[in-house]
Amino acid sequence: MRALYPGSFDPLTLGHLDLIERACRLFEVVVVAVLQNPSKTPVFSLRERLDQIETATRHLSNVEVGSFDGLTVQYARHCQAAVILRGLRALSDFEFELQIAHTNKSLAADIETVFLATATQHSFLSSSVVKEVARFGGDVRHMVPMGVADDLIRLLNRTSPGT
Ligand code: ADP
Repeated sequence: MRALYPGSFDPLTLGHLDLIERACRLFEVVVVAVLQNPSKTPVFSLRERLDQIETATRHLSNVEVGSFDGLTVQYARHCQAAVILRGLRALSDFEFELQIAHTNKSLAADIETVFLATATQHSFLSSSVVKEVARFGGDVRHMVPMGVADDLIRLLNRTSPGT
């Protein structure tokens, strides 16, 4: 069975990667797809985020990487994924995720949303926290794959102070 793991991944964190690794043991193929959400302004370009995911998942033979805009269920159909995969870090994620899952179910009854609980050691991690720590010069190497830590340093160098 093929599963679609959609997200902003701005940037990819070790929490995302852990979820991908575990999903790879459950599904034949895991399609990790960057959602180009018009209501969000990402700090990393689509190309950068795809590169980050491709580099970090190189050791996993059953990962495919893609991107989409529009409806997740439509993209799931396009990838022939019967499952949409999402991560749950805390109770605070639950309400929002349940709403999306119900919405997707109402649009595509044949596609199931499967939630994986985040690994305890990564449950505090979010892309926003990582960006915040990096912005103030904190070490993020225990939060993101190696390549992403380098990208964050590059990003801060190209962003002038105060912006
Ligand atoms: P979105 O903007 O779609 O929420 P994110 O990139 O923030 O995209 O997250 C994508 C998915 O990964 C979501 O299901 C989210 O709950 C999950 N996720 C986010 N952070 C972590 C983490 N630290 N560990 C595991 N899953 C996570």
